[in-house]
Amino acid sequence: MRLNHNENQVAKPEKLCAVKGMNDILPAESARWEWLEAQVRDLMARFAYRNVRTPIVEHTQLFVRGIGEVTDIVEKEMYSFEDKLNGEQLTLRPEGTASLVRATIEHNLLYDGGKRMWYMGPMFRHERPQRGRYRQFHQIGAEALGFAGPDVDAELILLAVALWKRLGLTQWRLEINSLGQPEERQAHRTALIAYLEQHLDVMDEEARRRMYSNPLRVLDTKNPAMQAMVNGAPRLLDFLGEASLAHFDGLKKILDANGVPWSVNPRLVRGLDYYNLTVFEFVTDLLGSQGTICAGGRYDYLIEQVGGKSAPAVGWALGAERVLELIKELGTDIPEPALDAYAIVPDAAAMPQVLATLTQLREAGVRVQMHTAGSEGMGSMKSQFKKADASGARHALIFGADELQQGMVTVKSLRDGEGLQQQQALAQVAQWAPNLQSAS
Ligand code: ATP
Ligand code: MG
Repeated sequence: MRLNHNENQVAKPEKLCAVKGMNDILPAESARWEWLEAQVRDLMARFAYRNVRTPIVEHTQLFVRGIGEVTDIVEKEMYSFEDKLNGEQLTLRPEGTASLVRATIEHNLLYDGGKRMWYMGPMFRHERPQRGRYRQFHQIGAEALGFAGPDVDAELILLAVALWKRLGLTQWRLEINSLGQPEERQAHRTALIAYLEQHLDVMDEEARRRMYSNPLRVLDTKNPAMQAMVNGAPRLLDFLGEASLAHFDGLKKILDANGVPWSVNPRLVRGLDYYNLTVFEFVTDLLGSQGTICAGGRYDYLIEQVGGKSAPAVGWALGAERVLELIKELGTDIPEPALDAYAIVPDAAAMPQVLATLTQLREAGVRVQMHTAGSEGMGSMKSQFKKADASGARHALIFGADELQQGMVTVKSLRDGEGLQQQQALAQVAQWAPNLQSAS
């Protein structure tokens, strides 16, 4: 049947596509995502981290105050808009920490001590899309709020390492650094500005604009032409006092005792303003220039900055797309959810009984797909078997009229060479259902 008889009368609707840099995750991919999420969920529970789900939209001010005005995210990457109905300035969240901190303050979660929490979900940044860099991407984050010691920094790093182990991820390295405390940064800042003033010739426009408002950000540049200059800049590490160094040493000792290899990268400053003391990144060489799979650090001043009662905190976020890409790159096997059975129905008249049996099978835990009629009706046995094969199911259930009359269904193995075949009683589904299920 054709609806558009006359092309001149009814214009064909324009084809709609997803927004640039925002991806559909289709069934062929989603099993990998579900597997990753299941591993994360289980591991977080073992580390006593509790799940938190915050809204995707927040007041723009939260990110301006939380992330810092002179940062890539706030200057150029946020999806901000005005709510047409009430004029509020809103933003699609570009990261999860600010929201989690806002929720912690709003609900007074620290009233009885520190909290360990985790989240996952989509984040939005208006960046140039490329491999490992999208405009909607997904982060999984873990945060420990209300704890000051390096033992918690270490716990979070060990949590990430445990996750890599479960995911079969190898070929990563851990880079750590300390950003010290505000007073130490102040002294470094003065030295850094003096240094930058002597290297104006190699600095790009963005760096010149930031060198007084946020000179540390200049060190976070991705401009290759500036790397040599950045490498020679005064190191924040050389400005740290005793307490900051002791915190850093405390972390290193725990990592050593747990066999976690690390290296200090004195140029690691992180792209967000809120960090102090420990910062770290897990980096791989297998993903090209988007090699950071997980990043985080301590942010002891953020809670107060967002309007809460001062409390220390530390956390990390991983990029799910990059982690999944690395898993693919390493060729790790991920269990695909296989079908246990495919229901072959020679005559549509049997459908009521077929569906009733499938309900019982599903209640018993069997994954079963029923054959559905096409434009030509149910189709021949041969074409139904073809579909059963293509479905990947391990068994075919044949609901033939003769069998049904005797209260039976034929179960045929589609995977064993012999194609073993036997009849089972419809009245005793629960007894034979387990035989259909895969061992896992
Ligand atoms: P980058 O330096 O790659 O821009 P970032 O410092 O901006 O990263 P964070 O804000 O620390 O990133 O986010 C934590 C993690 O989230 C990153 O290490 C990365 O794995 C992932 N991530 C960040 N931005 C994107 C993006 N646009 N697309 C996909 N993943 C991203
Ligand atoms: Mg970035």
